[in-house]
Amino acid sequence: MNFEVFALGTSGMMPLPNRFLTSAMVRRDGELFLFDCGEGTQISLKMLNLKWKKINSIFISHMHADHVTGLPGMLMLSSQVDRDDPLTIYGPPRLKEYIDANRRILDMYINYEIVVKVAHPGVLIDNDEYTVSAFPLSHTKPCTGFVMEEKLRPGEFHPDLALALGIPKGPLWGRLQKGLAVTLDDKSVIEPSAVMGEAREGRKFSYVTDSLYLPSIAYHVKDSDLLFCEGMFGSDMLETAQEKMHMTSEQAARIAKDAEVKKLALIHYSPRYNDWELKFLAEDAQRVFPNTILTRDRMRFDIPLKR
Ligand SMILES: [Zn+2]
Ligand SMILES: [Zn+2]
Repeated sequence: MNFEVFALGTSGMMPLPNRFLTSAMVRRDGELFLFDCGEGTQISLKMLNLKWKKINSIFISHMHADHVTGLPGMLMLSSQVDRDDPLTIYGPPRLKEYIDANRRILDMYINYEIVVKVAHPGVLIDNDEYTVSAFPLSHTKPCTGFVMEEKLRPGEFHPDLALALGIPKGPLWGRLQKGLAVTLDDKSVIEPSAVMGEAREGRKFSYVTDSLYLPSIAYHVKDSDLLFCEGMFGSDMLETAQEKMHMTSEQAARIAKDAEVKKLALIHYSPRYNDWELKFLAEDAQRVFPNTILTRDRMRFDIPLKR
């Protein structure tokens, strides 16, 4: 089952010719999840040819223009397709007011239901397969990070063991594969553990942008397979980063290291750096956490299933 993350934009503050504003999309098993939505988000989606109009959920970190100005256009164009299920948007308290005002003033025609929920710290979505949760960051406005984490997957099914136990191929196999016990004709009960390997770990993606460095971030993003984290400034700009309540790329790397993530993808670069100069941000981070990627717009990250 696929779990892909697309970097739709990597710029902070303002969109640049080669860098749209910070936004990421997760595509997992036919569902789409958008994290932040600045100007240019739609263009990247178009360039990637992602069929995004039936997006399932949107998560907004905070109410700064560089993270929300792409939203009205996305909501409007989503009406070009028919959908029955609502679109849920999670974000800070004033997000609903922003969306409602845009809808009213722009006379937006929207043919589906929009549900806006406040992204309080804690679990936002919890279903059979995964959770999405929010945790607090520290910025000039209320801001949250997000974590999407799959639950344990049932272990590998061993048909040879099932046959040896006298379980005929068919619906009983399906029940066992779902982790349910089955009763055979002779009334004996077979537990799934008799025919299944150990449960397999799920995958974890974390999205962190616009915050001071906080040691608590590492706790929330612990063991992520992929961490998208702001690395707005080089380490020589630490003071400026702190004043503006942002992070240096080195601080992002420290979080990645402390959290023992598998891969760090830097995002939300300051427009003061041209595309070539960004390599210095990556170098600062790689000294602390070697598996750091200098994310560019429209890069795709694949998180493979774990055995
Ligand atoms: Zn920002
Ligand atoms: Zn901000």
